[in-house]
Amino acid sequence: MHNILHFIGNEFVPSESGATFEILTPISNSVIGNCASGQPADIDRAARAARAAFDSGSWSKMKVKDRAKKIRTIGDLILKHAEKIAELEIEDTGIPRAQITKGAIPRAADNFYFFADQLESLRGDAYTVNDEWLNYVIYRPVGVAGLITPWNTPFMLETWKVAPALASGCTVVLKPAEWSPLSASQLCKIIQEADLPPGVFNCVHGFGESAGAPLVTHPMVNLISFTGETTTGQTIIKNGADTLKRYSMELGGKSPNIVFADADLDHALDGALWQVYSLNGERCTAGSRLLVEDSIHDSFVKRLAERVKKIKVGDPNEMSTEVGPLIHPEHFSRVKGFMHVAKQDGATILVGGDRPAGYGVGNYFLPTLITDVTNDMRIAQEEVFGPVLVVIPFKGEAEAIRLANDIKYGLAGYVWTRDVERAHRVAASLECGMVWVNAQNVRDLRLPFGGSKWSGIGREGGELSFKEFFMEAKSVHVPLKANHIPRMGG
Ligand code: NDP
Repeated sequence: MHNILHFIGNEFVPSESGATFEILTPISNSVIGNCASGQPADIDRAARAARAAFDSGSWSKMKVKDRAKKIRTIGDLILKHAEKIAELEIEDTGIPRAQITKGAIPRAADNFYFFADQLESLRGDAYTVNDEWLNYVIYRPVGVAGLITPWNTPFMLETWKVAPALASGCTVVLKPAEWSPLSASQLCKIIQEADLPPGVFNCVHGFGESAGAPLVTHPMVNLISFTGETTTGQTIIKNGADTLKRYSMELGGKSPNIVFADADLDHALDGALWQVYSLNGERCTAGSRLLVEDSIHDSFVKRLAERVKKIKVGDPNEMSTEVGPLIHPEHFSRVKGFMHVAKQDGATILVGGDRPAGYGVGNYFLPTLITDVTNDMRIAQEEVFGPVLVVIPFKGEAEAIRLANDIKYGLAGYVWTRDVERAHRVAASLECGMVWVNAQNVRDLRLPFGGSKWSGIGREGGELSFKEFFMEAKSVHVPLKANHIPRMGG
């Protein structure tokens, strides 16, 4: 049984109130441990520890090469403890082993290596004016960063925020999702092993209302980097107004995956499958709205259906499993509920739509393919966040773009075509933060990551994580000779 505690000032501590909540595994929904349930008093303690650590300068003013070394050490320790992290993440989230060990964990380590490199190469612009002025920009860490993360690929997403926050020199209070506390606790152990100054990294577990909300309103916390649902993001922005928080918001999505008739259809098929059924469909950038050109629609859907039926659902511990159980019974009910909604609106559940035979326990849900969908249906407009793909036919490029953009979200877009000009045209026309052409979501950490419309505010990634968010730009103006100052007062 796991006994998960908060991590404050380099020590593992229970909630001051002693409150805990049960941790379930999605594999069987049995209780696998207890987790300290953070309350405002615990957040206050963590925020004070982070503030004191920041103000002491022990981290924010540490030599860049030394701070970068510590950040790289965390990356090394993630790889050293990869098997333990994988074990916990699978037990906690049900994500298949292969996708954790080959994808999420190496990427988590890369997050630290990448931002250590970024820190060492951080540049500020400099300008001269007529050889009379030298004006330049320097970057300083903002202060205490509040990081609030969701339960899908929790370890990877937590490190995606923790790495740039720490590298920038900020100190951190992390509030992981209550449905997935295990790997976050392992991250705390790793950071303890890396021996950062006390208070630099803190983690308070708990519910959004009792632990997340007081972090957002805490006056000692300067910024909130949030990943989660759009509606939660809206609440957070309202709640942080009085303490004038700086925000980065990575929110929901319902991204279009557009397949033109001239595409390499074998490749497009692989991409369409991976982009929605990997990570159990619990992926913010899922290509969950498949737009297929009408001339190939029927044959493409037929091939798709054959492949969807063959996706291997099962125990996420098995290396060969492709789809594991959904995170939580509540989430299972939500995903299942969408099947009724789709049918009521006139769509057809062509494949899946229910629990697989032989899986009476756990949150297993069959990879699902839904046809006879129009773009105005709820199943086409709302984020399901499960292994559910809807297919919508289109006629011509203009209609593809219109349908793709006819939605409140704008996180990602995928385009499959052999026509180079069209690929660039469509990529430029999609109303979203990121586009992949003839590829699934393969990240380049140097590029901005984030969404437009209801999918987010701001971009992280590359230098932007520092320059736009975790650091403050400061302009310094220096005259190179005595400067003329208009004389006042005689
Ligand atoms: P939620 O918005 O429910 O929760 C995210 C985090 O916010 C959790 O830690 C949650 O705590 C916390 N929280 C909830 N209410 C508050 C509050 N009032 N104040 C402060 N914190 C709060 O999202 P999910 O965990 O359900 O994650 C799924 C969502 O995340 C999907 O919409 C998905 O698209 C999005 N996502 C977006 C990504 C992107 O980069 N754009 C990437 C990955 C996911 P608790 O766990 O207790 O609810």
